[in-house]
Amino acid sequence: MFDWLDVRAQARAKAGLRRRLVPRSADSDVRNLAGNDYLGLARDPRVVAAASAAARRWGAGSTGSRLVTGTLDAHAELERDLADFCGVESALVFSSGYLANLGALSALGGPGTLLVADEYDHASLIDGMRLSRSDHMRVPHRDVAAVAAALRDRSRKRALVVTDSVFSVDGDLAPLAALAAVCREHSAGLLIDDAHGLGVLGPGGRGAPAAAGIAGAPDVVVTATLSKSLGSQGGVVLGPARVIRHLVETARTFIFDTGLAPASVGAAAEALAVLRAEPELADRVRASARALAERLRAAGLDAAEPAGAVVSVRAPSAQQALDWAGRCAAAGVAVGCFRPPSVPDHVSRLRLTARSDLTEQDLDHVVDVLVATAPARADERLLAT
Ligand code: PMP
Repeated sequence: MFDWLDVRAQARAKAGLRRRLVPRSADSDVRNLAGNDYLGLARDPRVVAAASAAARRWGAGSTGSRLVTGTLDAHAELERDLADFCGVESALVFSSGYLANLGALSALGGPGTLLVADEYDHASLIDGMRLSRSDHMRVPHRDVAAVAAALRDRSRKRALVVTDSVFSVDGDLAPLAALAAVCREHSAGLLIDDAHGLGVLGPGGRGAPAAAGIAGAPDVVVTATLSKSLGSQGGVVLGPARVIRHLVETARTFIFDTGLAPASVGAAAEALAVLRAEPELADRVRASARALAERLRAAGLDAAEPAGAVVSVRAPSAQQALDWAGRCAAAGVAVGCFRPPSVPDHVSRLRLTARSDLTEQDLDHVVDVLVATAPARADERLLAT
């Protein structure tokens, strides 16, 4: 039965697409620019202490699904706090951002709804659309006119436009204000995945919708993860109270899943408190990403302009990207490596994530390592144009 798996594995290896798990040791001194701990809160002593205090108070697990025994005071408090921070009526915490997207799209979509998605949307949005059994279409990247045309020409009564705020591969920003205006004009909803915006964009890290002036709008729903800037684990849907009520009663990834573990809830709540008290963390991570991209470009590498924390650097091929990332790791700098099929345009990239705690020396060191380990300069595709 499973022989075909070896054939597939060999084909992936031949195409340079082999994927391996590389365990990270707790005391490694590798500079981590591959993770999503944008504000350095995953190991912040206050956040770690809050995680253990919540585990001591509530136990290691939440003991049940949210509608049975798995909703603790701590979940309700975190939901109120996240809604208040992001300027929306209501919030609902899920076990992950992935499940938040699946739950929101499957509950808000359906056969009577058209979903219109950016072609570079995150995999969890694509999977959510498929699960929803809605009519769905992909439009060209950041193309507001294409979205408007799709909404105008639709045969379905209901429509929801679905987009990442900061796109996870290239770190660029969706035209959120323009999309919201088009949605309003055509009586459609807008669902924004703000996984990379929360804690990074907007005043004090209140997210990309706040930065675009559309937080709390009646036809906007936002999803996010607690596992990036908040340094914990879990996901959240933020929006109008009636949307959240609908999700509580119908979203299958909420109903049939065990409530988020107390330690993760406690950590996320404390991380949010830290962010409220230190709003400059969000400014710092953006400045650090811009400085990193500028220095990489000055050194001749093809780094995209970051909207948030994600800095993407193009590589000539999947294999070269992999080898380059391997050389960086050997030199003490962990970077992400995005290759097909994870990248929609088949261009492989190194993906670096800035953090608010990177020093000038860190930035210099990272740039030096990337330049010293880059594939041969003779390949013109590497050079910035
Ligand atoms: N959306 C986007 C844009 C993401 O980058 C991610 C994380 N890779 C997710 C959703 C999923 O979030 P989580 O890791 O909490 O499942």
